[in-house]
Amino acid sequence: MTAEIISVGTELLMGNILNTNARYISQKLCDLGINCFFQTTVGDNHDRLVQAVDIALSRADILILTGGLGPTADDLTKETVADAFGRTMRNDPVSEAYIRARFASSGREMTPNNLKQAMFPEGAIIMPNPNGTAPGCIVEDGEKAAILLPGPPHEMVPMFDTSVMPYLEKKSGHMLYSHVVRVYGIGESAAEYRLKDLMAQQTNPTIAPYALSGEMKLRVTARCKDAAEGELLMAPVLREIKKTLGDAVYSVNDQELHEVCASLLKEHRRTLAVAESCTGGMIASKLVSVPGISEWLTEGLVTYSNESKMRRLGVKRETLDAFGAVSEETAREMAEGVRLSSGSDIGIATTGVAGPGGGTPRHPVGLVYIALASQTGTYVRKLQLSGSRERIRNAAALQALDMLRRYFLGNLQIG
Ligand code: ATP
Repeated sequence: MTAEIISVGTELLMGNILNTNARYISQKLCDLGINCFFQTTVGDNHDRLVQAVDIALSRADILILTGGLGPTADDLTKETVADAFGRTMRNDPVSEAYIRARFASSGREMTPNNLKQAMFPEGAIIMPNPNGTAPGCIVEDGEKAAILLPGPPHEMVPMFDTSVMPYLEKKSGHMLYSHVVRVYGIGESAAEYRLKDLMAQQTNPTIAPYALSGEMKLRVTARCKDAAEGELLMAPVLREIKKTLGDAVYSVNDQELHEVCASLLKEHRRTLAVAESCTGGMIASKLVSVPGISEWLTEGLVTYSNESKMRRLGVKRETLDAFGAVSEETAREMAEGVRLSSGSDIGIATTGVAGPGGGTPRHPVGLVYIALASQTGTYVRKLQLSGSRERIRNAAALQALDMLRRYFLGNLQIG
């Protein structure tokens, strides 16, 4: 099966915007094993678009067009494809109602030309567009099909994933089956280096690394007949990744660190309280995003001033005077204090210099202490982080969650 991409838009031809839609679609076609031998970019011009569609239809089974679904006179894609397939344009009442409701709810005035977006080639399969006003559509004729998608990437990508992928999977007899492996504590380049042989050998499934803020993920994608075959192809590769990266791998199903921590608290039936200084509630906020956490997260305090650290957590004045607020000793007393005062099994605390100002030679920007107190003892980790204030705070919150995860794994040294 072959597909061809036609990107419609004069802005693309003039170099005003980058053709990210074509790149996205080509990658997906490649993953599905659908050949794509040609891509065309054509301006908003009727005759040239007719020519592009005719040529593509003569050599490909599936045409995928993006752009030109809008309400203005130069948005011609649907009309051109209707002509090429010998169809008349028909109004779709469901789309019309959707477009009217979208305008009404946003309080914008709907002009008559907007109804053009509810017109489709007769017999088309209509694809909803929850992120914009122009629905997409698929026009079929025997073995041939044209898939029409909106131009804006934030509309095109979700429509492609939700509606086009299942259509192409069915048509090609293949599906894509993915696992997202999340990794913390090894940088993207180090992980890629360790995995380079595995990644080079693998053609099905493929492994694609992505850097995230402070962590990374690997998308492992198998091309298969069904989910069972996908799992079978996937299993040895997931095993090898876990073997290579060790316990830096914290989930294989795209679960985030705070979700994994919430599951561990539940599984081990342990309660947690957090006292945050430099992270200012980020740890609690991440955990609170998990439904049902109220049973395990007892409280979160943002103890920013020295006064608050003493009054709320029982940090000693002598400790603060002798070592400062950003110190191993203060972090330790904060974690122990929040654990005891809340009656929780585990207490976690953060204290650090998030910057950009406020650093000194003894306490430079990025210096952060994280403490975890439990029945068996208290562990403190010293970090020297870098980057913007937001980046440092986020990295500190992730480190704290990773300490909690490692505590449950039993590989956190309690001292
Ligand atoms: P609308 O309903 O917004 O009018 P449309 O389907 O008519 O959408 P266009 O008018 O062709 O789409 O493009 C709208 C915008 O989408 C462009 O200004 C551009 O920012 C973006 N866009 C269009 N095509 C592409 C593309 N191939 N790659 C990346 N961005 C694109």
